[in-house]
Amino acid sequence: MTRAPLLIVGSMAFDDLDLPSEKARDVVGGSATYAALAASHFAPARIVAVVGEDFPAATLEDLGKRGVDVSGVERAKGRTFRWWGRYADDLTSRTTLDTQLNVFADFKPKLPAGFADSPYLFLGNIHPALQLEVLAQVRAPKLVAADTMNFWIEGERRLLGEVLKKLDLLVVNDEELRQLAGVHNVTRAARAVLALGPKKVVVKRGEYGALLFDAEGAFFVPAYPLEDEIDPTGAGDSFAGALLGVLAESGAFDHRTLRRALHTASTVASFCVEGVGTKALAALTHEKIRTRQAVLRVLVHPGD
Ligand code: AMP
Repeated sequence: MTRAPLLIVGSMAFDDLDLPSEKARDVVGGSATYAALAASHFAPARIVAVVGEDFPAATLEDLGKRGVDVSGVERAKGRTFRWWGRYADDLTSRTTLDTQLNVFADFKPKLPAGFADSPYLFLGNIHPALQLEVLAQVRAPKLVAADTMNFWIEGERRLLGEVLKKLDLLVVNDEELRQLAGVHNVTRAARAVLALGPKKVVVKRGEYGALLFDAEGAFFVPAYPLEDEIDPTGAGDSFAGALLGVLAESGAFDHRTLRRALHTASTVASFCVEGVGTKALAALTHEKIRTRQAVLRVLVHPGD
């Protein structure tokens, strides 16, 4: 049986990261990069994105070796998207110091032949206009999921509203959820956001795990209790990439399958935090995922 592919649109970036442990510069990141790396353990991922002349060919080659189809990554004249973030000492919050769209400013996504039949679609964090352009080129997706961030919630609210109407699943962090809903209480905010269109919403809460809200109720998955937290950048994208990867692998989208997928997503995201940029994620194996997932299960099992 051929495995169902997952199409990912998002940013491919150079990140400058002011972490408590170090100031890391020109780190390869971006929502699509993290999501594809995480998803590649479960489903064949395809990326639609743009990079500049300065983006390392080795990164694309490495993704290719992991089974990620990078034929939809356009190399344009100019500089790659850049993001600069500064984390608080406890890593629980961060401030964006600078965002430079660069080649993303003029990007017109054009899906390679063969990508239009993608059954699974993850509209990663990127301008909602680009999310819509990609969505319009996919013929009959089985499942459409998206992420976004404060930058777009503040600046592109109307277009983001269009995206929300077309979603099966929205994956956001609690701050974004509150901002979208204009409500502080997470449960109420999730209900308000579900009314905007998505069939289900997953709320990522960093070290406090994640919540799923849908018509069947709510479900909670904890975060793996890490001893060494180095860099949370991309943890949210890794979470979403793994989540969508497992859904593509299973072929189902019911509450039960989602619960299982959320456990895997939480596990994969925890690895991301253990290294600067994609370092720890790139070293991930199935065995490591399995072992940590078993610990996560025990963590919330009340016993007999
Ligand atoms: P996360 O920590 O999961 O929220 O994702 C961090 C990644 O998102 C970084 O690698 C950034 O390059 C990327 N990023 C930051 N801001 C934006 C933005 N406005 N649009 C697209 N990607 C972004």
